Amino acid sequence: MNAVNPPLTIRMRDEDNVAIVANDGGLPAGTVLPAGVPGAGLVLRDKVPQGHKVALTDFAEGDVVLRYGVPIGYALKAIPAGSWVHERLLQMPSARALEGLPLATVTPPVHAPLDGYTFEGYRNADGSVGTRNILAITTTVQCVAGVVAQAVARIKAELLPLYPNVDDVIGLEHSYGCGVAIDAPDAIIPIRTLKNISLNPNFGGEVMVVSLGCEKLQPARLLPPGSFPITDERGADAGPETVCLQDDAHVGFMSMLDDILQTAKPHLERLNARRRETVPASELIVGVQCGGSDAFSGVTANPAVGFCADLLVRAGATVMFSENTEVRDAVEQLTSRAANAEVAEAIIRELGWYDRYLDRGRVDRAANTTPGNKAGGLSNIAEKAMGSIIKSGSSAISHVLSPGEKLRRDQRGLVYAATPASDFICGTLQLAAGMNLHIFTTGRGTPYGLAECPVVKVATRSDLARRWHDLMDINAGRIADGEATIEETGWAMFQFLLDVASGRKKTWAEHWKLHNALVLFNPAPVT
Ligand code: CA
Repeated sequence: MNAVNPPLTIRMRDEDNVAIVANDGGLPAGTVLPAGVPGAGLVLRDKVPQGHKVALTDFAEGDVVLRYGVPIGYALKAIPAGSWVHERLLQMPSARALEGLPLATVTPPVHAPLDGYTFEGYRNADGSVGTRNILAITTTVQCVAGVVAQAVARIKAELLPLYPNVDDVIGLEHSYGCGVAIDAPDAIIPIRTLKNISLNPNFGGEVMVVSLGCEKLQPARLLPPGSFPITDERGADAGPETVCLQDDAHVGFMSMLDDILQTAKPHLERLNARRRETVPASELIVGVQCGGSDAFSGVTANPAVGFCADLLVRAGATVMFSENTEVRDAVEQLTSRAANAEVAEAIIRELGWYDRYLDRGRVDRAANTTPGNKAGGLSNIAEKAMGSIIKSGSSAISHVLSPGEKLRRDQRGLVYAATPASDFICGTLQLAAGMNLHIFTTGRGTPYGLAECPVVKVATRSDLARRWHDLMDINAGRIADGEATIEETGWAMFQFLLDVASGRKKTWAEHWKLHNALVLFNPAPVT
């Protein structure tokens, strides 16, 4: 037993009949839970790993196990008090039917608006604001990826030094564009995702495209006239400025690279002329996500993110939460928190579509949990979901986006952007929605990062924050350690977001240039 850290258990709600063990390394069998913690006086019958659940009562076979005040499973056999309640002892509850759900029945707490918070951002022609000033080269098809990568390397070496106000140049590489059933109804999802990513606020409206020529996803199909503001002298109905590799004018590889560099120059010039200006915090569009979750995610990091999400909404900003399979078990909480019946019905529509999508693949939401989740104490998706949705805070849900859709300027507040929970796919779709800042919580640890937008990573446990000291930006594990409150951590996160948005601070993922690929969600057939 560690004398410095007495045994500590954490229970989320008074009605819960399990608590999780907070101590680094877990607690050995025979440990007596001390006075003042949930389960005081109980003797542990098993070794209970950190983050895992201990039975606070005797369970008979079939008894409900409550965490977050909701059923996360049913005992498959008798479980005496003091036992380790691991996933093999639990039958997962079935998913709530999507019929008869409460629609906009809860009136969320009304918080006073937060006025006066600002950041330094790049104001775009369409009114949106970038937190970074990046030239993004859109691609129509994977075939051009190698050429674009070499062009980007040359632009960084030869041109970026001439344009010091431009933060970066990136190729929007992806696996779509050809070999796909482009007229399938669901093809709209990857196509609009690509289009909307190229219009992300961090790219300043400077759209340029590299195309192969023969691909199914032609530039005019990706970016029809009128779908974006033309920033150069070409007319309003001009299509995207495109370098087509199969163009007869290209003789040899170098001519393609030279063409891309020449095309990039005026875009870089215009981006370079921009300066940060003071803008209200309401221009932040923050995507929240979790990955590599553990049982602490719902105790420390996600509640702190939820508190911060409420602060952002009070400041007039937009917060997007996502991850269909990780909210499915909490659907009732979401539909009741919707601002109105239409929003609630949109949530049901999106989650119903996703149920059917999973069903086509003969799986369900339970396919979400990973070996790491389970090793971290999360028994099943029902338990994971309850910890996951806490990221959304307590505001009313004001809008719903389908996968790949872009937020309109008048869509503010708390938004449910329906996406798969896959970290890279969710991040890609949140970029398409217009995200200019990303918060990512992790318990197991992931080096996730994006080239397109700063990613603020939040550790759920101090042990992870210590070991990954140069990868985690915020340590929410201090909440479990009793060193900081959820509110203090949420406020610190809010201030850190304003600093990162302003370019005053960089995230670790930016520092190390950790960039995950864009991964499109393509539910349509390939050919
Ligand atoms: Ca995720």
